[in-house]
Amino acid sequence: MRQDHICCAIYPGSFNPIHYGHIDIARRALRMFDIVIVAVYVHPGKPSLFSAEERITLVTESLKDEPRIRVASYDKLTVDYAREIGAQAIVRGLRVFSDFELEFRMALANRRLAPEIEIVNFIAAEEHLHISSSTIREIASLGGDVASMTPPHVAGALRRRFAELKAQGSNSSFMVSLND
Ligand code: ADP
Repeated sequence: MRQDHICCAIYPGSFNPIHYGHIDIARRALRMFDIVIVAVYVHPGKPSLFSAEERITLVTESLKDEPRIRVASYDKLTVDYAREIGAQAIVRGLRVFSDFELEFRMALANRRLAPEIEIVNFIAAEEHLHISSSTIREIASLGGDVASMTPPHVAGALRRRFAELKAQGSNSSFMVSLND
């Protein structure tokens, strides 16, 4: 489905769960690209607080007012997925200086693998720079308020998930890893 006249980018990530930093980057990308596909990466065999379907539902609801955004999941190399759907660019967000090294290394590796795909980094609005999914998971797991970091439907989903895990007597700590 390659459409050369339409400029399409993918915005890949775990989105576990989506938050205002991600939403800000997706909207910034829309200023530059006709279509932005938020691509939820499904790590084979890695336990995750929210399933791929749940993450897709939360992303879709968060960006439902943006008709040029599509949401999908994938479980392969990002560049292979980008090629498969005919995307010309990969969008990533930058928040803190420590992101830079990882993003820079990843961009160089992706360029080596797929030189025809451009990597574009956007810097989030200052008020969102501190937010990360892992911080949100940790705060929510301890019953804290994440309303300033993520939309209400995501905060609700977090409350329900941690209540479920508590009722099951599950040790949720492996899902609240500080690593995203
Ligand atoms: P990962 O790539 O580790 O799975 P995420 O799924 O959370 O991380 O993030 C996807 C993309 O969104 C990455 O490029 C990440 O740098 C970016 N991002 C995450 N949080 C923010 C934020 N608060 N501001 C800007 N960009 C962010």
